[in-house]
Amino acid sequence: MQDTAFARLRIVLVGAQHPGNIGAAARAMKVMGLSDLVLVAPERYPDPEASARASGAEDILEAARVVGNLDEALADCVLAVGTSARTRRTEWPLVNPRVAAERAVAAATEGPVAIVFGRERAGLDNAELDRCQLHLQIPANPDYSSLNLAAAVQVVAYELRMAAGADVVGTLAHEPVSGADMEGLFSHWQSVLEASGFLDPAEPMLLMRRLRRLFYRAAPDRVEVNILRGALRSLDPRGGANRGSRGQ
Ligand code: SAH
Repeated sequence: MQDTAFARLRIVLVGAQHPGNIGAAARAMKVMGLSDLVLVAPERYPDPEASARASGAEDILEAARVVGNLDEALADCVLAVGTSARTRRTEWPLVNPRVAAERAVAAATEGPVAIVFGRERAGLDNAELDRCQLHLQIPANPDYSSLNLAAAVQVVAYELRMAAGADVVGTLAHEPVSGADMEGLFSHWQSVLEASGFLDPAEPMLLMRRLRRLFYRAAPDRVEVNILRGALRSLDPRGGANRGSRGQ
């Protein structure tokens, strides 16, 4: 994760009408690690419904700045990305959230970047979109393309997190295996399969090559190789005497 750049990503909600959506947007942000929320002339705020819907993200609401107009929200920004459900007649190039997020994260290395969301009923007006250098549209059903405001914030916040490099999800600690470990595994397979009569000792290579392909594709880690070696030992028809089969 590019943490410094990520901290410079700002969500701007313009003229939000339902306090519940403000709370839900704060929650959507916090889940994705965003914290900078600016509210431009919200209709009802603060409001208990906003806090209720934030459910655990009240800190984002408490730190949110309320400003009177979009210019104030964007004054220090090096990039503003406007979001729109509608394809306007104006000639703004529209990008999808993935492309926009990459641009936003890159620009955030230079300074604050705003992603601007519009009113529930009317979205952003053309003057507001004119303030944004890049326009983002979430691809959707052309006959029903308008997401709930907080849902749109969630989609964009997720893409920002992915673009910032958080694409590794809970990996196990994989201990890598060496080429020698893999050769040991293949020799062990060959030895046990010959002993069991499954592999023709005169023509071992075709099957062994197939097994190599299978295990290379699976890319086992050390624990998995050890499990396989243990299983082979337990299945070896020669029993204990040969448990130290070749390649061990
Ligand atoms: N009727 C409005 C819909 C506003 S939905 C309109 O036509 O613009 C409220 C806000 O959610 C929008 O202003 C935008 O910021 C965001 N949003 C909803 N659906 C979106 C989509 N498909 N792409 C991008 N932003 C979207």
